Amino acid sequence: MSVTQVSPHVHVETAYLGSNNSIIVGTDGVALVDTPHKPADAQAWRRVVDGFGTTRFVVNTDHHPDHTIGNFWMGGEVVSHRGTRDRLLRDAPTEEYLRDLFEVIDPDAVDLLPSYSVRVPEVVFQDRLDLHLGDVHLELRFQPGHTANSLLAYLPQDGVIFTGDIVCESSLPSFQDCRLWDWFDAIDAVESYDFDVLVPGHGEVTDRSAVERYRQWGRDVAGEVAAAIDAGQTLEQACDEIRFEDLIHVGNEDYTGYPDPLIEMFQRNSIARIYHDLSERPELAR
Ligand SMILES: [Zn+2]
Repeated sequence: MSVTQVSPHVHVETAYLGSNNSIIVGTDGVALVDTPHKPADAQAWRRVVDGFGTTRFVVNTDHHPDHTIGNFWMGGEVVSHRGTRDRLLRDAPTEEYLRDLFEVIDPDAVDLLPSYSVRVPEVVFQDRLDLHLGDVHLELRFQPGHTANSLLAYLPQDGVIFTGDIVCESSLPSFQDCRLWDWFDAIDAVESYDFDVLVPGHGEVTDRSAVERYRQWGRDVAGEVAAAIDAGQTLEQACDEIRFEDLIHVGNEDYTGYPDPLIEMFQRNSIARIYHDLSERPELAR
Protein backbone atom coordinates (compact mmCIF):
# COMPACT_ATOMS: atom_id res chain seq x y z
CA MET A 1 0.00 0.00 0.00
CA SER A 2 1.51 3.27 -1.07
CA VAL A 3 -1.23 5.83 -1.54
CA THR A 4 0.36 9.10 -2.67
CA GLN A 5 -0.99 12.63 -2.52
CA VAL A 6 -0.74 14.16 -6.01
CA SER A 7 -2.58 17.47 -5.46
CA PRO A 8 -4.30 19.27 -2.55
CA HIS A 9 -7.44 17.10 -2.78
CA VAL A 10 -6.29 13.93 -4.56
CA HIS A 11 -4.62 10.73 -3.35
CA VAL A 12 -3.76 7.88 -5.73
CA GLU A 13 -2.80 4.22 -5.34
CA THR A 14 -0.90 2.90 -8.36
CA ALA A 15 0.50 -0.31 -6.89
CA TYR A 16 -2.49 -2.64 -7.08
CA LEU A 17 -2.92 -5.19 -9.84
CA GLY A 18 -5.50 -3.69 -12.17
CA SER A 19 -6.46 -0.06 -12.50
CA ASN A 20 -5.21 2.92 -10.55
CA ASN A 21 -7.49 3.87 -7.68
CA SER A 22 -8.02 7.48 -6.62
CA ILE A 23 -9.55 9.31 -3.68
CA ILE A 24 -10.83 12.88 -4.03
CA VAL A 25 -11.32 14.50 -0.63
CA GLY A 26 -13.75 17.40 -0.24
CA THR A 27 -15.22 19.12 2.80
CA ASP A 28 -18.46 17.15 2.28
CA GLY A 29 -16.96 13.70 1.79
CA VAL A 30 -14.99 11.60 -0.58
CA ALA A 31 -15.29 10.42 -4.19
CA LEU A 32 -13.35 7.49 -5.62
CA VAL A 33 -12.26 6.85 -9.18
CA ASP A 34 -12.23 3.13 -10.06
CA THR A 35 -11.97 0.24 -7.61
CA PRO A 36 -9.41 -2.52 -7.08
CA HIS A 37 -9.31 -5.66 -9.16
CA LYS A 38 -8.34 -8.11 -6.42
CA PRO A 39 -10.81 -8.65 -3.57
CA ALA A 40 -7.96 -8.56 -1.02
CA ASP A 41 -6.89 -5.15 -2.36
CA ALA A 42 -10.48 -3.91 -2.42
CA GLN A 43 -10.97 -4.78 1.25
CA ALA A 44 -7.69 -3.06 2.16
CA TRP A 45 -8.59 -0.07 -0.01
CA ARG A 46 -11.91 0.33 1.79
CA ARG A 47 -10.03 0.76 5.07
CA VAL A 48 -7.68 3.34 3.51
CA VAL A 49 -10.59 5.25 1.97
CA ASP A 50 -12.53 5.34 5.24
CA GLY A 51 -9.55 7.11 6.79
CA PHE A 52 -10.20 10.07 4.47
CA GLY A 53 -13.93 10.47 5.18
CA THR A 54 -17.30 9.14 4.12
CA THR A 55 -17.50 7.84 0.57
CA ARG A 56 -20.23 9.67 -1.35
CA PHE A 57 -19.46 8.54 -4.90
CA VAL A 58 -17.53 5.78 -6.66
CA VAL A 59 -16.83 6.59 -10.31
CA ASN A 60 -16.19 3.76 -12.81
CA THR A 61 -14.27 4.98 -15.87
CA ASP A 62 -15.41 1.90 -17.83
CA HIS A 63 -16.99 -1.52 -17.21
CA HIS A 64 -13.85 -3.67 -17.33
CA PRO A 65 -13.30 -5.97 -14.34
CA ASP A 66 -9.99 -4.31 -13.46
CA HIS A 67 -11.93 -1.08 -12.75
CA THR A 68 -15.14 -2.45 -11.25
CA ILE A 69 -14.70 -5.71 -9.32
CA GLY A 70 -13.95 -3.75 -6.13
CA ASN A 71 -17.25 -1.81 -6.32
CA PHE A 72 -18.80 -4.49 -4.14
CA TRP A 73 -16.69 -3.49 -1.12
CA MET A 74 -17.09 0.31 -1.39
CA GLY A 75 -19.61 2.66 0.21
CA GLY A 76 -21.49 5.52 -1.45
CA GLU A 77 -23.18 5.42 -4.84
CA VAL A 78 -21.48 3.99 -7.90
CA VAL A 79 -21.60 6.44 -10.83
CA SER A 80 -20.81 5.83 -14.49
CA HIS A 81 -21.81 6.47 -18.05
CA ARG A 82 -25.11 4.64 -18.71
CA GLY A 83 -23.32 2.33 -21.15
CA THR A 84 -21.09 1.05 -18.36
CA ARG A 85 -24.11 -0.02 -16.33
CA ASP A 86 -25.62 -1.63 -19.45
CA ARG A 87 -22.43 -3.58 -20.19
CA LEU A 88 -22.15 -4.76 -16.58
CA LEU A 89 -25.77 -5.92 -16.65
CA ARG A 90 -25.43 -7.58 -20.05
CA ASP A 91 -21.91 -9.03 -19.90
CA ALA A 92 -21.17 -9.25 -16.19
CA PRO A 93 -18.18 -11.47 -15.45
CA THR A 94 -19.59 -14.93 -14.74
CA GLU A 95 -18.82 -16.89 -11.61
CA GLU A 96 -16.71 -19.22 -13.76
CA TYR A 97 -14.69 -16.31 -15.19
CA LEU A 98 -14.16 -14.88 -11.72
CA ARG A 99 -13.17 -18.26 -10.30
CA ASP A 100 -10.54 -18.78 -13.02
CA LEU A 101 -9.27 -15.22 -12.54
CA PHE A 102 -9.16 -15.31 -8.73
CA GLU A 103 -7.38 -18.68 -8.75
CA VAL A 104 -4.50 -16.88 -10.44
CA ILE A 105 -4.58 -13.34 -9.01
CA ASP A 106 -6.07 -13.81 -5.53
CA PRO A 107 -6.59 -17.49 -4.57
CA ASP A 108 -8.10 -16.73 -1.14
CA ALA A 109 -10.88 -14.78 -2.87
CA VAL A 110 -12.29 -17.94 -4.44
CA ASP A 111 -13.96 -18.64 -1.08
CA LEU A 112 -15.67 -15.24 -1.23
CA LEU A 113 -17.43 -15.99 -4.51
CA PRO A 114 -20.66 -17.37 -3.00
CA SER A 115 -21.26 -14.04 -1.23
CA TYR A 116 -19.92 -11.81 -4.02
CA SER A 117 -22.08 -10.09 -6.58
CA VAL A 118 -21.24 -7.72 -9.40
CA ARG A 119 -22.21 -4.26 -8.21
CA VAL A 120 -23.51 -2.21 -11.14
CA PRO A 121 -23.59 1.62 -11.04
CA GLU A 122 -26.66 3.06 -9.34
CA VAL A 123 -26.29 6.56 -10.87
CA VAL A 124 -25.74 6.95 -14.60
CA PHE A 125 -25.51 9.86 -17.03
CA GLN A 126 -25.46 10.35 -20.79
CA ASP A 127 -23.27 13.40 -21.56
CA ARG A 128 -22.01 14.98 -18.38
CA LEU A 129 -22.49 15.05 -14.65
CA ASP A 130 -20.91 17.10 -11.86
CA LEU A 131 -20.32 15.56 -8.43
CA HIS A 132 -20.05 18.11 -5.61
CA LEU A 133 -18.07 17.41 -2.45
CA GLY A 134 -18.31 20.81 -0.75
CA ASP A 135 -15.17 22.77 -1.61
CA VAL A 136 -14.41 20.78 -4.76
CA HIS A 137 -16.38 19.18 -7.56
CA LEU A 138 -15.61 16.49 -10.08
CA GLU A 139 -16.73 16.95 -13.69
CA LEU A 140 -17.58 13.73 -15.49
CA ARG A 141 -17.83 13.77 -19.27
CA PHE A 142 -18.81 10.93 -21.58
CA GLN A 143 -15.87 10.25 -23.86
CA PRO A 144 -16.00 7.11 -25.99
CA GLY A 145 -12.45 5.90 -26.56
CA HIS A 146 -10.96 2.93 -24.78
CA THR A 147 -14.55 1.64 -24.59
CA ALA A 148 -17.80 2.93 -26.08
CA ASN A 149 -18.82 3.96 -22.56
CA SER A 150 -15.63 5.51 -21.17
CA LEU A 151 -15.54 8.80 -19.31
CA LEU A 152 -13.10 11.51 -18.33
CA ALA A 153 -13.19 12.88 -14.78
CA TYR A 154 -11.76 16.34 -14.14
CA LEU A 155 -11.09 18.19 -10.91
CA PRO A 156 -10.75 21.82 -12.05
CA GLN A 157 -9.78 23.15 -8.60
CA ASP A 158 -6.58 21.06 -8.63
CA GLY A 159 -5.97 20.82 -12.39
CA VAL A 160 -6.18 17.03 -12.23
CA ILE A 161 -7.64 14.80 -14.98
CA PHE A 162 -8.51 11.14 -14.46
CA THR A 163 -8.41 9.53 -17.88
CA GLY A 164 -9.18 5.89 -17.16
CA ASP A 165 -7.67 3.82 -19.96
CA ILE A 166 -8.14 6.65 -22.48
CA VAL A 167 -4.53 7.39 -21.50
CA CYS A 168 -2.25 4.91 -19.74
CA GLU A 169 1.25 5.62 -18.60
CA SER A 170 2.58 2.07 -18.56
CA SER A 171 1.58 0.67 -21.96
CA LEU A 172 -1.39 0.11 -24.25
CA PRO A 173 -4.48 -1.58 -22.81
CA SER A 174 -6.82 -3.78 -24.82
CA PHE A 175 -8.44 -2.29 -27.93
CA GLN A 176 -11.17 -4.92 -27.97
CA ASP A 177 -14.04 -2.65 -26.90
CA CYS A 178 -12.96 0.49 -28.77
CA ARG A 179 -13.43 1.99 -32.20
CA LEU A 180 -10.13 3.30 -33.43
CA TRP A 181 -11.52 6.69 -34.46
CA ASP A 182 -12.99 7.20 -30.98
CA TRP A 183 -9.69 6.07 -29.46
CA PHE A 184 -7.71 8.84 -31.18
CA ASP A 185 -10.48 11.45 -30.68
CA ALA A 186 -10.53 10.70 -26.96
CA ILE A 187 -6.79 11.31 -26.69
CA ASP A 188 -7.30 14.68 -28.40
CA ALA A 189 -10.10 15.43 -25.93
CA VAL A 190 -7.77 14.84 -22.98
CA GLU A 191 -5.31 17.32 -24.47
CA SER A 192 -8.01 20.00 -24.64
CA TYR A 193 -8.32 20.11 -20.84
CA ASP A 194 -6.42 22.54 -18.63
CA PHE A 195 -4.49 20.23 -16.28
CA ASP A 196 -1.09 19.71 -14.71
CA VAL A 197 -1.61 16.23 -13.27
CA LEU A 198 -2.80 13.26 -15.30
CA VAL A 199 -3.97 10.19 -13.38
CA PRO A 200 -3.92 7.42 -15.99
CA GLY A 201 -5.89 4.18 -15.92
CA HIS A 202 -2.68 2.23 -15.36
CA GLY A 203 0.90 3.22 -14.55
CA GLU A 204 2.42 6.15 -12.70
CA VAL A 205 0.71 9.50 -12.16
CA THR A 206 2.07 11.78 -14.86
CA ASP A 207 1.50 14.99 -16.83
CA ARG A 208 0.70 16.21 -20.34
CA SER A 209 3.77 14.48 -21.79
CA ALA A 210 2.10 11.08 -21.39
CA VAL A 211 -0.60 11.97 -23.90
CA GLU A 212 1.60 12.23 -27.00
CA ARG A 213 3.63 9.18 -25.97
CA TYR A 214 0.48 7.12 -25.66
CA ARG A 215 -0.92 8.38 -28.97
CA GLN A 216 2.35 7.35 -30.64
CA TRP A 217 2.13 3.83 -29.19
CA GLY A 218 -1.36 3.57 -30.68
CA ARG A 219 -0.17 4.93 -34.02
CA ASP A 220 2.65 2.39 -34.05
CA VAL A 221 0.40 -0.63 -33.60
CA ALA A 222 -2.22 0.77 -36.01
CA GLY A 223 0.61 1.27 -38.51
CA GLU A 224 1.67 -2.36 -38.15
CA VAL A 225 -1.87 -3.55 -38.78
CA ALA A 226 -2.21 -1.18 -41.77
CA ALA A 227 1.00 -2.61 -43.22
CA ALA A 228 -0.36 -6.14 -42.78
CA ILE A 229 -3.57 -5.16 -44.58
CA ASP A 230 -1.56 -3.52 -47.40
CA ALA A 231 0.51 -6.70 -47.69
CA GLY A 232 -2.68 -8.67 -48.24
CA GLN A 233 -2.69 -10.47 -44.89
CA THR A 234 -5.98 -11.88 -43.70
CA LEU A 235 -7.45 -10.95 -40.33
CA GLU A 236 -6.35 -14.33 -39.03
CA GLN A 237 -2.75 -13.84 -40.18
CA ALA A 238 -2.55 -10.34 -38.70
CA CYS A 239 -3.92 -11.64 -35.37
CA ASP A 240 -1.35 -14.45 -35.39
CA GLU A 241 1.61 -12.17 -36.02
CA ILE A 242 1.11 -8.73 -34.50
CA ARG A 243 1.58 -8.11 -30.79
CA PHE A 244 1.90 -4.86 -28.85
CA GLU A 245 3.68 -4.42 -25.59
CA ASP A 246 1.28 -5.02 -22.74
CA LEU A 247 2.58 -4.24 -19.27
CA ILE A 248 -0.95 -3.91 -17.91
CA HIS A 249 -2.10 -7.50 -17.99
CA VAL A 250 1.21 -9.31 -17.59
CA GLY A 251 2.87 -10.02 -14.27
CA ASN A 252 5.99 -8.32 -13.00
CA GLU A 253 8.06 -8.61 -9.85
CA ASP A 254 5.42 -6.76 -7.84
CA TYR A 255 2.38 -8.75 -8.83
CA THR A 256 1.00 -11.81 -10.52
CA GLY A 257 -0.58 -10.89 -13.83
CA TYR A 258 -3.40 -12.38 -15.84
CA PRO A 259 -3.58 -16.01 -16.96
CA ASP A 260 -1.72 -16.40 -20.27
CA PRO A 261 -4.80 -17.44 -22.28
CA LEU A 262 -6.54 -14.20 -21.24
CA ILE A 263 -3.55 -12.08 -22.30
CA GLU A 264 -3.47 -13.89 -25.63
CA MET A 265 -7.21 -13.25 -26.05
CA PHE A 266 -6.76 -9.49 -25.33
CA GLN A 267 -4.00 -9.30 -27.93
CA ARG A 268 -5.90 -11.14 -30.65
CA ASN A 269 -9.14 -9.26 -30.01
CA SER A 270 -7.25 -5.96 -30.06
CA ILE A 271 -5.54 -6.64 -33.38
CA ALA A 272 -8.87 -7.84 -34.82
CA ARG A 273 -10.57 -4.62 -33.66
CA ILE A 274 -7.89 -2.46 -35.27
CA TYR A 275 -7.96 -4.55 -38.46
CA HIS A 276 -11.72 -4.10 -38.80
CA ASP A 277 -11.60 -0.39 -38.09
CA LEU A 278 -8.71 0.24 -40.50
CA SER A 279 -10.51 -1.74 -43.19
CA GLU A 280 -13.36 0.74 -42.77
CA ARG A 281 -11.22 3.86 -42.40
CA PRO A 282 -7.63 3.27 -43.60
CA GLU A 283 -6.73 6.96 -43.20
CA LEU A 284 -6.62 6.44 -39.41
CA ALA A 285 -3.20 4.79 -39.73
CA ARG A 286 -1.68 7.75 -41.56
ZN1 LIG B 1 -7.97 -0.89 -17.38
